[in-house]
Amino acid sequence: MRKGSLAGRYVKDLLCLWAVFLFCVSWSPVRGLNRDDYLRLRKAMVQEIRADVERTRKWIGKGELDSRVLEVMGTVPRHEFVPVRLRSSAYENRPLPIGYGQTISQPFIVALMTDLLGVGPEAKVLEIGTGSGYQAAVLAELVKSVYTMEIIPDLGKQAKLRLERLGYNNVEVRIGDGYYGWPEEAPFDAILVTAAADHIPPPLIRQLKPRGRMVLPVGDPFATQQLILVEKGDDGEIRSRQILPVRFVPLTGGPHP
Ligand code: SAH
Repeated sequence: MRKGSLAGRYVKDLLCLWAVFLFCVSWSPVRGLNRDDYLRLRKAMVQEIRADVERTRKWIGKGELDSRVLEVMGTVPRHEFVPVRLRSSAYENRPLPIGYGQTISQPFIVALMTDLLGVGPEAKVLEIGTGSGYQAAVLAELVKSVYTMEIIPDLGKQAKLRLERLGYNNVEVRIGDGYYGWPEEAPFDAILVTAAADHIPPPLIRQLKPRGRMVLPVGDPFATQQLILVEKGDDGEIRSRQILPVRFVPLTGGPHP
């Protein structure tokens, strides 16, 4: 057999294989979504949040959320905050697992809690339960500085790197027990707790400014809880209001045995 024709066949075979590869990649249903796909999905997610607000208006006391909050929900790349294999589900209006038995909260709940905080561009906010860092990123778009605490070291470290990579330079992440808050940075204009306890942690009440607001799930950590809005008066007096039944993962740590 002549050498030239053998080489030619190899080239032909390689070209064939390459063509098959390109065909599979372009038609594969699992191929990655592109920026436009994510933008479209994010817009649809915001519409679902609006619909959920409308459905729950009798609990939350209004039919629309602050337009700045909805705008930010339409901007933050939620697919960057979920495990790669779940990226195509990132904009579904539901919580998703992020490992270590924890979840990234449902978009509607993230938007609602952010809205209830009623924070402006100068606010300093504390979040307990960093998880993926998504809620912290949403807050970071709206306020001056965000301090967020996570009790699971690996989750905290990953969230810190992710937030840095995405350019959120007004977020500080600390690994530690958020039940006790972040006294060195207190007081805060607003505090958000994204894990459930059966009472409002007293250290967090102390770290809230007068006229500050705190939003957190309170109730049986292993069943349904109530989302509570706490307001601290000028005189330090505490008023709280139940908003909506919710389900969060438990707040661990604290003074429990
Ligand atoms: N806000 C997150 C979702 C939070 S899930 C997001 O946007 O992705 C609740 C998180 O609270 C979990 O990561 C859990 O590890 C954390 N957590 C539970 N108890 C905590 C505590 N005492 N202090 C700090 N974080 C806590």
